[in-house]
Amino acid sequence: MTNWIQGPFPGHEVNVVFARGIPLDTLTRGLRDRLREPLVYGEANGWAWAVHDMHNWDAEDYDDVDYSGMCPEGAEIVVFVTEPCSAKAFPPAFEYHRDGRAILCFSFEDIQQRVGENPDYLSAELLAANLIGPTAECGQQGDDGHDCFDHHYDDHERLVTVIADCFALPAPPLSAEVTAK
Ligand SMILES: [Zn+2]
Repeated sequence: MTNWIQGPFPGHEVNVVFARGIPLDTLTRGLRDRLREPLVYGEANGWAWAVHDMHNWDAEDYDDVDYSGMCPEGAEIVVFVTEPCSAKAFPPAFEYHRDGRAILCFSFEDIQQRVGENPDYLSAELLAANLIGPTAECGQQGDDGHDCFDHHYDDHERLVTVIADCFALPAPPLSAEVTAK
């Protein structure tokens, strides 16, 4: 795994999950209980982490995972949903759960539409990185020869960097304790 959001597990549509205040075996058991067998998992930088298939096709379980239910008082869970609707090529989504509640959720496609108990949880950091706010729009939009798609993935990378810095997430690549076939 070299990157959190751009195809971290080739051939799979995965969610990348980080948990703080939750032991690794509790995290992996919680995912198994929800029919999301981790593909790889490990510990780094004070976080337990796991990568799991977004859906369980065998069990025909296509529901969103209830991460808040895995996140007791005092614990935190950070999630990157890497391919929320791959057929439509939707960009990744982000979720932050704490104390059993969804604090902040948004799609990379529309960072302005942030929801959760505290939609402004990361706003100061996003504003400082110019990812939201009055000057966040691309200044060259519509210019001759400029295609915003060219910096589309750079924008995602900047967003991941802000999130990773804010939560002190471990930097990829991580060594996994288990690798699925
Ligand atoms: Zn542009």
